[in-house]
Amino acid sequence: MTKPKIGFLFDVDGTLTTYHANDSVIDLLIINDLEMIRKMNFPIGLITGRSVQWVRNYFFNHINDTLKEYIPVFGEFGLVNWYRGKKVRKRINKELRDLLRNIKQECSEAICEYWELEPYENYVQPNQRKLWIEPKEIMITFRTLPLYGITTEKLLRNIEPVVEEYTNELKIVPNPYAVDILPFKTSKKTAAEKAIRILDKEKTVTKWYAFGDSETDREMSNAKNADVKFYKIPRGVTQEAHLIIRRLLAGSPE
Ligand SMILES: [Mg+2]
Repeated sequence: MTKPKIGFLFDVDGTLTTYHANDSVIDLLIINDLEMIRKMNFPIGLITGRSVQWVRNYFFNHINDTLKEYIPVFGEFGLVNWYRGKKVRKRINKELRDLLRNIKQECSEAICEYWELEPYENYVQPNQRKLWIEPKEIMITFRTLPLYGITTEKLLRNIEPVVEEYTNELKIVPNPYAVDILPFKTSKKTAAEKAIRILDKEKTVTKWYAFGDSETDREMSNAKNADVKFYKIPRGVTQEAHLIIRRLLAGSPE
């Protein structure tokens, strides 16, 4: 009897990485696990709010070229994806694109005016008190800077009144590191469905295992096109993910 084929979906921040000084750092144990999964020819997908560019330029710095080729990225909650060596953006209509651009501008102005900040758009954390905007292609991300007193709560105070008018089109997803603004229908569930369609064209995977550190990640288990079991890993405790992966690869019961 051949071993059943299983698949893996991972959130990135806080799941595959830990935070140091507000920056995401990958764990060596986890890199080895990804390598083991690849060698067994089981599919891997990264389901993240991070941009494809961030994953490729920062996260992928820590892994070898074979893994880079092997692991597709479903970035910005599946709005911008990277697989088979190319970037594919989800098609969204012009109204929504314009709305996102305007909302980004409006929120940025509201926050900067209220907290007397200057906007700073970069992947790298600023070394001054600024409004840190992480570059994204479609969604919007305002990063927190706890060191300078810029917290999720403070950002939300200015963002919520701006987005309130558009609750049919947009939603706010806050976490300790950032406040994300997304098209209403976009979620980790839709990103996982997309990943499974791409990674398992022949439908040979019998079970998917999804790992995340937040309730937002749990949505992956609702993917309609597959049987997905979700493991919530306490933020940054990558050791726990490591042990579960080893167990699953050894063919042990869940
Ligand atoms: Mg996370």
